[in-house]
Amino acid sequence: MKIICIGRNYAEHAKELNNPLPSAPVFFMKPETSILTRNRPFYYPDFSVDIHYETEIVLRICKVGKNISERFAHTYYDAIGLGIDFTARDLQQNAREKGLPWEPAKAFDNSAPISEFLPVTELQDVHDLEFRLLINGIQVQKGLASEMIFSYEKIISYVSRFITLKMGDLIFTGTPAGVGPVKIGDRLDAYLDDRKMLSFLIK
Ligand code: ZN
Repeated sequence: MKIICIGRNYAEHAKELNNPLPSAPVFFMKPETSILTRNRPFYYPDFSVDIHYETEIVLRICKVGKNISERFAHTYYDAIGLGIDFTARDLQQNAREKGLPWEPAKAFDNSAPISEFLPVTELQDVHDLEFRLLINGIQVQKGLASEMIFSYEKIISYVSRFITLKMGDLIFTGTPAGVGPVKIGDRLDAYLDDRKMLSFLIK
């Protein structure tokens, strides 16, 4: 399986990182080894001193598709969860300045904690979800799916022009404003509407 991550999908977040608004989805990938499940702790890696959280809605792909039209894209995901796109912002900044790839900053081991997935049939309106991240009990990030620049369907349609999607693939749909650093000892709790989806420690 693979993980596709969308960058700059909320206007306020693009602004906070001084990025222009994209005219097409910006995407990058994380490998399977980046996944961290079951609320296991995240161990701060030794190659960065500026790991940032990015809380994101994650789609789970349920069938193989290539060149998927936007109209049918909703039939290609069957479950939604939350994930953290951990980013070594110092390495990313260095890579951006030098025009180098982002993998060391984005694709490292355990950089993608994910929650359990809820079947879309259990959610009232998948395009109207609210999600939040609390660090040590204080809310630091809040996102509304309705404020995405590119909808789930646009993302699936666009990405599948380049890369075949397969059952079990995950799509991180981008983070809203409010990203920031974590430190050892922090507890991260993430909610999708009123459901607690993630609760884990930085060690
Ligand atoms: Zn992200």
